[in-house]
Amino acid sequence: MRTRRLEISCPQCSSAEVSYTCTPNCCFNHVCAGCGTTFEPVTTPAGGRLSGIVPPDPLPDATDPTAECAKCSSTAVYMTGDGSPVCGKCGALLKLELTEVASGV
Ligand SMILES: [Zn+2]
Ligand SMILES: [Zn+2]
Repeated sequence: MRTRRLEISCPQCSSAEVSYTCTPNCCFNHVCAGCGTTFEPVTTPAGGRLSGIVPPDPLPDATDPTAECAKCSSTAVYMTGDGSPVCGKCGALLKLELTEVASGV
């Protein structure tokens, strides 16, 4: 199954102009370019798994939204065609939640 890059919308203003500001061995802090809100995405298993995940082409940049798979801790979390987060490594279907939301204004 083909996947696309993970997209996360700002929990405050719904902008998709969100970038990842840290590194996976530190934290998952993201910042919204529109309103400056910061947040961290976390995943939980949604149940079920997919096989034959094809990573997006081109692969995400280091600053593209990133989340960690709740099952295997891989950061190769992508999106299926219908917008569900899925782990590119173990194929687990995931649910994405935003935590540590801090308004930038
Ligand atoms: Zn925003
Ligand atoms: Zn996984």
